[in-house]
Amino acid sequence: MHEQDSTVTRLETVRAQIRQAEADFGRKAGSTALVAVSKTLEADQIRPALEAGQRVFGENRVQEAQSKWPALRQAYRDVELHLIGSLQSNKAEDAVRTFDVIEVVDRPKLATAIKAAMDRTGLRPRVLVQVNTGEEAQKGGVAPQGADALVAACRALGLQLEGLMCIPPEGEPPSPHFALLAAIARRNGLSILSMGMSADYPAAIQCGATHVRIGSAIFGPR
Ligand SMILES: *Cc1c(COP(=O)(O)O)cnc(C)c1O
Repeated sequence: MHEQDSTVTRLETVRAQIRQAEADFGRKAGSTALVAVSKTLEADQIRPALEAGQRVFGENRVQEAQSKWPALRQAYRDVELHLIGSLQSNKAEDAVRTFDVIEVVDRPKLATAIKAAMDRTGLRPRVLVQVNTGEEAQKGGVAPQGADALVAACRALGLQLEGLMCIPPEGEPPSPHFALLAAIARRNGLSILSMGMSADYPAAIQCGATHVRIGSAIFGPR
């Protein structure tokens, strides 16, 4: 029981700190959604957060989500699942069937594969374009200078594009990356910004995050 108690305690703390950051930075109360990142956790470790009312979760692997979430969704029907890890085009249909929001669209080929999967399944996931704000070779995401074109391509395909996502480079101040993502969203008329993790979510809220993706601050170190 102790571990479950601490998950709930940490969840409450994160919720309070999100509200505090909204107040501190002049953001509307409740304008930041919490995506609880449950990657690597077993269903039993996720359940306390569900019991505490958390409904939006992030997973980074399609297969792992496919094995964990169908049973949990049976019990908690209003769960909203976000894919936050890289997606291969040949897994697009699995992703469309498993996730409500795909946050990692970063190339035209993947956008086209998602569109084809939507046509085959009749499902319409919301999508975000992931931007590699730090232009790191090992990281997914479209380069900042390619973002406008990819946004346009997603719209032309008829994807349900709502916004942008980024993961700033480790060891750099994150705020310039958050500000860059916000600027790209603004000039493209996109309202959703998924940015900020356990270490930096108040700064992300200051820069306009509408979704923060938080794992270890809720569930403990992985
Ligand atoms: C793991 C992960 C998170 C959560 O990271 P924490 O530091 O545990 O909060 C957020 N976003 C992405 C894309 C991740 O892979």
